[in-house]
Amino acid sequence: MLTLHDVSVQYGDREVVHGVDWAVGGNALVTALLGPSGCGKSTLLRAIAGLEPVAGGIVAFDGVDLARTPVHRRDFGVVFQDGQLFPGRTVGQNIAYGLSRRGIGRDEAAARVGELLDLVQLPGTANRRVTELSGGQAQRVALARALAPRPRLMLLDEPLAALDRRLRDDLAVAISEIVKTSGTPTVVVTHDHGEAALMADEVSVMNDGVIVDTAPPQRLWRRPADEWVARFLGAAA
Ligand code: ATP
Ligand code: MG
Repeated sequence: MLTLHDVSVQYGDREVVHGVDWAVGGNALVTALLGPSGCGKSTLLRAIAGLEPVAGGIVAFDGVDLARTPVHRRDFGVVFQDGQLFPGRTVGQNIAYGLSRRGIGRDEAAARVGELLDLVQLPGTANRRVTELSGGQAQRVALARALAPRPRLMLLDEPLAALDRRLRDDLAVAISEIVKTSGTPTVVVTHDHGEAALMADEVSVMNDGVIVDTAPPQRLWRRPADEWVARFLGAAA
């Protein structure tokens, strides 16, 4: 389980995440971090991944303070908005990337690639160039690459934002099923209400650098914590 205690993050002397307390992966396998543009979602996710320094507070995984034991972050899988596949390599080479670095041999890696391509419903595409993939296919390969080393936590930052509306809904459901099948606790950042409701067992709402409500989607929409959450959820419903 991921736990944040009083976590703050700043850029220069401007604090954008203010003392967040948060627990992920206890009750829910997929947690959405939902909030308006600029509220600090990506910053918080990057801080959890160790890509941004924490100005104060503690980020812990299974009780281990990650500031003291950063090596645990190698067990996190991260996917960003635009997937960031290695363009010169094949689908299979992209997915196997983290495996050879962990000393996993070629045969085992090839088997794992095949298994993951089945999981993301792109069977038989290991030898394709990633530059030939559609946006949705590329995001599924990025997901497979992140899942390949069997991470203990997945961090997804707007993995569908670059795709068109129809594809997004289909892929939102697909991604949620994929991570659930893999059994990996997952945080997915989104500013899209529908996506949060489709993907997550639990939704945390962020506003202006703090988490203001956390609940399963059904309860969140029925009983928002306060006026602001009610207005935010109502606005784009
Ligand atoms: P969006 O939904 O648009 O992706 P977000 O919730 O992910 O928004 P962040 O990217 O975390 O928001 O940004 C939070 C605040 O921090 C914003 O005011 C943003 O301008 C600022 N910010 C983000 N990245 C940097 C940076 N590298 N340097 C300075 N300020 C930054
Ligand atoms: Mg963002």
